[in-house]
Parts: sequence; C-alpha cells; structure tokens
Amino acid sequence: MRYLDEYRDGELAQKLAAEIHRVTTKPWNIMEVCGGQTHAIVKFGIDELLPKHITLIHGPGCPVCVTPLEVIDQALAIAARPGVIFTSFGDMLRVPGSTTDLLAAKAKGADVRIVYSPLDAVKLAEDNPAREVVFFGVGFETTAPATALAVFQAAQKGLNNFSMLISHVLVPPAIEALMSSPACRVQAFLAAGHVCAVMGYEEYFPLVKKYHVPIVVTGFEPLDILQGVLMTVQQLETGRAEVENQYRRAVRREGNQPAQALIRKVFRVVPRKWRGIGEIPLSGLGLSEPYARFAAELKFGVAEQRVDEPAECIAGLILQGLKKPHDCAAFGTRCTPEHPFGATMVSSEGACAAYYRYRRR
Ligand code: SF4
Repeated sequence: MRYLDEYRDGELAQKLAAEIHRVTTKPWNIMEVCGGQTHAIVKFGIDELLPKHITLIHGPGCPVCVTPLEVIDQALAIAARPGVIFTSFGDMLRVPGSTTDLLAAKAKGADVRIVYSPLDAVKLAEDNPAREVVFFGVGFETTAPATALAVFQAAQKGLNNFSMLISHVLVPPAIEALMSSPACRVQAFLAAGHVCAVMGYEEYFPLVKKYHVPIVVTGFEPLDILQGVLMTVQQLETGRAEVENQYRRAVRREGNQPAQALIRKVFRVVPRKWRGIGEIPLSGLGLSEPYARFAAELKFGVAEQRVDEPAECIAGLILQGLKKPHDCAAFGTRCTPEHPFGATMVSSEGACAAYYRYRRR
C-alpha cells in the first residue's frame, strides 16, 4: 500500500538500525512525544532494534490519556441530564471517570452517541432543536481546527442548543514543563508529526535554544521513527541542539496557516490540567470571549467539579518518562484494557495499553 509499505521495509529498517548503532557511543534518553509513535515503537519492536543504551521514553502525547479525571466526570454529569445528546469520538467512551465511564452511562439510558467529526454534532443540533447537543472536544493541536470549525459553524447558524466540553492541550508547553522539572531525564525529543502538520515547528526553536535539547519532527511509521532517532542521535553525539524535520512529506515549517487562524479566532490559550501530571501554565485551549456561550461546563453548571486521581495509578510518572508501565503493581492484573484502572490503559495510544497488547507483560 502506497505511503505505508514503503515506510515499513524491513531491509531499510535494519540499515537504519545499523547506522544508529554505528554512530552511538554514549547512553541517550530520547522521548517520543506522541502516543501514536509509542504504539508503533512497541508494536514493531523498534526499541529492541536500538543499541541497549538508547532509552526511548514514552511521553504525554496521548490526548485520551491526559484528559483529566474531573473532565470525564463533567462529561458524565452532562450526559446524564434529561434531553441531552452527548457526542464524542469513540475512544473517549471507555475512559474511566471516578466511578464509571460514558459507555456504562449509555447502557443505563444516557443518550451518548459516537460521531466521526465535530461537524456531525452540529448537524445533530440542527436536526434536534428541542434537545441539547454537546460535543466532547479533546485532543492536541491536530484536532483543534475541526473543533474550532464546529463552534464557528454553530455560531454562524445561530444554534442555541449546541455546546462543547473542551479539553484541548498544546504540545510545546508540555515539553517546557518536562524540561524545567529537576527530575527530567530527557535529552532529546521526537516531536509529533501530525501536530506539526497543523502548527509547523517555529514554536520549538525557543525551546531548543533555552534547554539545548534536539527536537526532531518525526512521523509514525517504523522507518520514520528510526530515521528520527538517527537524526536525534547524530545531534546528541556531535553536541548539536537543533530543530530538524524528518517528516518532510507532511510538515512545513510554517504549518497549516488557515487552520492556525481558525484556532486563534475561536480559542484562547488557557492553563490546563493534564491527567497524572497536574496543571501546566498556558497549555490548553479554551473558547475565546465571542464563543464563550458554547462552553458546556458553564451551560450545565459543572465547571467547579474537582476529583483526585486514584493513588495506585502511576500513569503520571509514566507520562513524564520516570517509570515504565510494568513498574506499576496493577499492570496486567487489576488494570487491563478490558478493565482499565487508569487512562494510559484505555487508549490504544496509551503506553500501558501498548505494553499490554504487544508482549511487554
Ligand atoms: S497499568 Fe493501569 S493503574 Fe498502572 S499506571 Fe498503567 S493505567 Fe495506571
């Protein structure tokens, strides 16, 4: 298959791995930011092709995993209201809140529907004027333009029965938070290619300068990741710290400017809590003043809900690269993909789920 098989060629993968072995002389800790990259690394055993002293640290780039428990509880509270049609992407339905999940709420009678685009939710609101339609908008910069477009369209159409529960997060502030932590072991980053396809990679230059840390924009196929690691190790071994772009077939330095303009129009940058990590300043998107009436948490009066993470789950330490999934006592026993205890076991992009699914038990 075009654009797939050619990036999974075993012979080329071995050549890239051999080159990484050749240039590596010291131990290095490299974080792949995106959950999609974590999934590919574990699925294809990419980490096992690398020199033993290169450690790949699985970063916080799974939007399902970092959506705070209290936002899941807000979603559950809204979905339980009479007359509400609660819409979401399918991967949010099994994310555990503090007592239950949206799938269980649906089984008990809540009108929870899976949609494939936020615009489907806008259409539902148009078709059901007597119902309140709510869309659960989570994700990184990659999905923010579609969410912004839905809010923009709802405003254009004058819809009063449409709102959004938004928990969008931004990658550069998360990198900044990781690098400024005294416990940080990360020496270089593979940045998420799809985020940069929207946002470009201008935002990474100040981080590279401030922390002298290489950042290589990287794709998601095995050869992309191996090449990203090679470019990163070449920088580390020669003492360079630069922004480089491995994912040239999809990413331009300036990104998708019309999409960025739409994000700026509908959203403002706000502090955001990350599940397992805590609040990171200016790391999220909230509705800007002209669109604030579409905020579901205000419309339904659930904005002030606060809950604590289960103490046993160490997902926060995993998302910061300080622990691996099998360091958790619940991994594979009390916590499995069928009965997830923490968010990193729910999503297929979560590190715990990837380790469980692909042999790392
Ligand atoms: S295995 Fe489950 S409980 Fe343990 S860190 Fe992962 S998600 Fe949390």
